[in-house]
Amino acid sequence: MKFITRLKTIMIAMVLIVGLPGITQAGTVPPPPPFDTWLSELKGEAIAKGMNADIIGQALRGAQPIAQIIKYDRHQPEFSLTFWKYLSNAISDTRVKRGRELLVKHGPLLKRVAQKYGVQPRFLVAFWGLETNFGKYFGKLPIIGSLVTLAHDRRRAKFFRAQLLAALELMSKGDMPVDVAGSWAGAMGNFQFIPTSYRDFAIDGDGDGKRDLWNNLPDAFSSAANYLSRSGWDINRTWGREVKLPKRFDLSLISHDIQKPLKEWQSLGVRRADGRDLPVVAIEGSLVIPAGYKGPAFILYSNFDAIMTWNTSTFYAIAIGHLADRLKGGGGLITRPPANEVALTRDNVVEMQNLLTSSGFDTGGADGMSGPKTRKSIRAWQSSKSLPADGYPSIELLKLLRQ
Ligand code: CA
Repeated sequence: MKFITRLKTIMIAMVLIVGLPGITQAGTVPPPPPFDTWLSELKGEAIAKGMNADIIGQALRGAQPIAQIIKYDRHQPEFSLTFWKYLSNAISDTRVKRGRELLVKHGPLLKRVAQKYGVQPRFLVAFWGLETNFGKYFGKLPIIGSLVTLAHDRRRAKFFRAQLLAALELMSKGDMPVDVAGSWAGAMGNFQFIPTSYRDFAIDGDGDGKRDLWNNLPDAFSSAANYLSRSGWDINRTWGREVKLPKRFDLSLISHDIQKPLKEWQSLGVRRADGRDLPVVAIEGSLVIPAGYKGPAFILYSNFDAIMTWNTSTFYAIAIGHLADRLKGGGGLITRPPANEVALTRDNVVEMQNLLTSSGFDTGGADGMSGPKTRKSIRAWQSSKSLPADGYPSIELLKLLRQ
């Protein structure tokens, strides 16, 4: 799920590397060029760009493609992750409790950062919780090893080559140690910055002359806040909220592309999840139903777009917003998860895509992942059958399609 239309994307997003729609099937990735030639050419490029040859040599010494990284990159889970499963993985009671404690513990620092960059502390702590479980897990793979592997591999060579060159440049300048560790996809530190984000947005928050996103919380918090601020964050607003839609609501109005003033949504019957009126403020919002029309509905404000700049997953962005609400003392969602939710398997989704395509509703290929095109074709098919057109892939839908 990727809604980029309204995003004022000013940078490469710190994208969720796993699970993005449009992943090339493993079998179709062309073979990589001979490694040694490729590496010496890359080294040549780095040095031609003015990087320090000694440091580059040191950083790339012994670099080899790591088979495990390619495995992570090609991993395709058997089951699709439902919204409810995603949310319960992301926001446990333990995480909420820990987040509340840390919000208090680091209160003075977070307040200073909030004043300087304009991002509420609870959101910073929510990102911290989702990215690294509040600094508990940074990833243990060598950044250069991971990036060399993924830049040499052909699936996303261009993106990772840019990341590798950015990392080498930071190392060359002494702005990052040559032996740093991170995630398999090259994300680093408390907030899992990729090298280009580190280069462009990391901040020396405590003024000691170094940017340290691993061991220095003033640096880490300031960097995350700077990223959000530069992505258009507004400290006077929240991210959105859970809402209740009236019966027989026109589901075609539910799209990140459809922005309306809250007053207008109110007149269309949209209410807060507890039934109260929407807030009386002159802002616009759009609606989303991440688990279909039977699941919860949310109204989203502009800060939601800033979260999506960080990570283009709607589930992720809702989880950040909801966790931030929980940290403030809020309870769980008012809509409850279904008693026995069935997750679709990859094969189910492939079958669904093939059935839709053969009925004349193009899903853009049968890759086993419910991306935007698949959802759009589901909506179109549902409309053609006069069913509630929520574009939501489910077992019920698959059963209907089989008939
Ligand atoms: Ca510092």
